[in-house]
Amino acid sequence: MTSSSPRADAASPGGHSCTQREEWLRLAVIQPSPFCNINCDYCYLPGRSETHRMSPETLRSVVSEIFRTDLVRDFITFVWHAGEPLAVPISWYEDALTLIRAEAPPELAILHSFQSNGMLINEAWCEFIKSHHISIGLSIDGPAAIHDVHRKTRQGKGTHEQAMRGARLLRQHGIDFHVIAVVSGESLDHADDIFDFFVGEGIHHFGFNVEEQEGIHTTSSLDGVPADRVAAFFRRIFERQKATGGKVRIREFDNALARIVADTDTVNDFIYENEQVRPFGILSVDWQGNFSTFSPEMLGVETADYGTFAFGSLRTGGLDQALQSGTFLRVLQDTTAGVERCRAECGFFKLCGGGAPANKFFENGSFNSTETAYCRHVIQLPLSIVLDDLEADLLSKS
Ligand code: SF4
Repeated sequence: MTSSSPRADAASPGGHSCTQREEWLRLAVIQPSPFCNINCDYCYLPGRSETHRMSPETLRSVVSEIFRTDLVRDFITFVWHAGEPLAVPISWYEDALTLIRAEAPPELAILHSFQSNGMLINEAWCEFIKSHHISIGLSIDGPAAIHDVHRKTRQGKGTHEQAMRGARLLRQHGIDFHVIAVVSGESLDHADDIFDFFVGEGIHHFGFNVEEQEGIHTTSSLDGVPADRVAAFFRRIFERQKATGGKVRIREFDNALARIVADTDTVNDFIYENEQVRPFGILSVDWQGNFSTFSPEMLGVETADYGTFAFGSLRTGGLDQALQSGTFLRVLQDTTAGVERCRAECGFFKLCGGGAPANKFFENGSFNSTETAYCRHVIQLPLSIVLDDLEADLLSKS
């Protein structure tokens, strides 16, 4: 999960408890356009130079199909994921939000969410975000010397200054936001610099994605980096967070603690409900109406083995097309087998639920596999750090 991955939004402020177990669709990741206004070198998204936009007819088909099914219960989050979501005009979203409210059951709670590079934020976007109570996160990797290494314009210039201008504008408008920072090779020796930068900017809620091999990004600056360097980075971030006495929230450690507490509360009768391994836990739809499920990063990727992971088109039919898709049935079978292997082989299974199918496929070449760099960094490491800390606290009190 690198850069603007939609999974980032699933755990954003205003998101829902990681301990809920209901089997329904709670996250729809919709791509109004594949276009991005910048060109980060670790981005996994294909087609980000293309300026196509979802038509009103396609959007109407997508929205009515989502509400036609019995998959939606009490609430749903729409993550507007492009490219860069703010590269699509405000008027497009005004129409989209009006349509969704008109089509949705009246009692349904709806949250809209953007994960943005921040470059296009202006007064009009602030007004729109505020008036519609939209959750927003910015992708900022830390201070300019780290951020600008990878997050560049198409002309190769750094984007930090403009992204921070966007962040400050949000703050001036009283809009609460979180930040997602990608940890790359350049970040590892700078945990304190990154932490101090965010806190110095008044940013008290952030999370980290680790640069991964995913989609068209087939190598990572962390390839071959010893695991203890990544561990040292996260341990230092945790120490700094702890020293703030709860003033700073960090997604990875908050999620780890929530799962550990849920496991304790249920007297160890807990298995984390992992939306990515459950068909239609997450629905991903591209600008043409093609849909996929499991990890959102799978949509738009073409592979030699499976072809594409689009399981049908909501422009021409319903979600039940997946049941006629040989690819869907193979992915389901292989993903389920991978989860069962995780259950049998991994001590973290109950707090993880079987990881991210996309990472298993892109890193290991198969959904029917277990450990990945992603799960070591983002699941196992934060859980280990928080568990070690809880144990040390207990020992010091005994
Ligand atoms: S931590 Fe990794 S190996 Fe363990 S259950 Fe999760 S995905 Fe599987």
